[in-house]
Amino acid sequence: MSTAPTDPAPGSARPLVEAVEGALERVLDEARLARGGAVADYIPELARANPEHLAVAVASVGGNVYGAGDDRHPFTIQSISKPFVYALAVRELGFDEVAGRVGFEPSGEPFNAISLEPGTGRPANPMINAGAIVTSALVPGPTPAERFERIRAGLSAFAGRQLEVDERTFASERATGDRNRALGYLTLATGILPLPVDDAVDAYFRQCSVLVTARDLAVMGATLAHAGVNPVTGEAVVDPAIAKRTLSVMATCGMYDYSGEWLVRVGLPAKSGVGGGVLAAQPGQVGIGVFSPPLDGRGNSVRGVEALVGVSQAYELHLFDHLTRPRSAIESVVVGPDGDVVVTLRGEVDFIAAEQLVDELRGHAGEARSIRVDARAVTDVRAVAARFLAVAAGHLRAGGLDVVVDGLPG
Ligand code: GLU
Repeated sequence: MSTAPTDPAPGSARPLVEAVEGALERVLDEARLARGGAVADYIPELARANPEHLAVAVASVGGNVYGAGDDRHPFTIQSISKPFVYALAVRELGFDEVAGRVGFEPSGEPFNAISLEPGTGRPANPMINAGAIVTSALVPGPTPAERFERIRAGLSAFAGRQLEVDERTFASERATGDRNRALGYLTLATGILPLPVDDAVDAYFRQCSVLVTARDLAVMGATLAHAGVNPVTGEAVVDPAIAKRTLSVMATCGMYDYSGEWLVRVGLPAKSGVGGGVLAAQPGQVGIGVFSPPLDGRGNSVRGVEALVGVSQAYELHLFDHLTRPRSAIESVVVGPDGDVVVTLRGEVDFIAAEQLVDELRGHAGEARSIRVDARAVTDVRAVAARFLAVAAGHLRAGGLDVVVDGLPG
């Protein structure tokens, strides 16, 4: 981030950017104190990583990206590709077809465990390698090259830029990947894997070798957080229902055998990779990417985990850390001299907002002559809220009150 010496113009975004990035710098200063861990060394490309690299980036659903540290340094995405390729497989084949081949249950086991459901042979979930190899193989295409191109294009759409494969990492993954091949054969034997093992694992090794930065991870996470629409490019990459399903699987399975403690400490759906990256998302708010190569015994970045704990705390993002006073959709209530009441709404109307509004309307039942609910500034209304409002308005009308709801989106 460059800091110009002059005061910013009144409309400048710089003070906000500096405030956000300053907070991210402080998160990194804390995370840097975490010791221990070791850089993955099963292939030379990962063993060569600089253990001092440290980055964090946050992308908002408003399309802004903030970063600190080595946030533009490339590294291989590794297992962080898994939720995104899962989303792409569901986009191509639909929920049922994918669910018939890969489950949703957290295995509580390491990433490369043989977690296959007794009876069906389905891998427990798409975040462990067995499940990821199957989901990757489900993305269709006439040739292996075209299939992988579809995966790469999909990952790029999530990131909002063309992502490239690190060919050396791919070659090493392929040369040392016998355990993944073994997982492939096990799923082939049960009829779950739809492709020859070598085709399937090659695509998986390639997707693991895609180069990203912490900023890319933040935007990819923000795309899931933004109901599947990349907030930087505006592209609808997957449907809202697919983004929701992907985040759900990340929440329970994304951090392998650390998923439970993770949900307690950070409280966000997330996915880690042995390249040192970790991605998290707060639905409706932000995507977060962190990067630091040394890993703990479960394959999660030691400082990356601490950085995400820091961001979650600093920005109060824990999913179960809600506001004690629910947001109200009521902007104003004006009572005219003749008892004509105008209630103006704005923003989202969910169940709680509808409940507050109904309480407000009921409060005027005795004295008002008419009530007009001006909902033209409402951006979104939950179906359940619309139903309750309709019932309440009907009840007030039956009592003789003239109630008009104006402009509630359908
Ligand atoms: N390429 C690695 C493997 O499948 C990815 C593991 C990970 O990032 O957790 O062994």
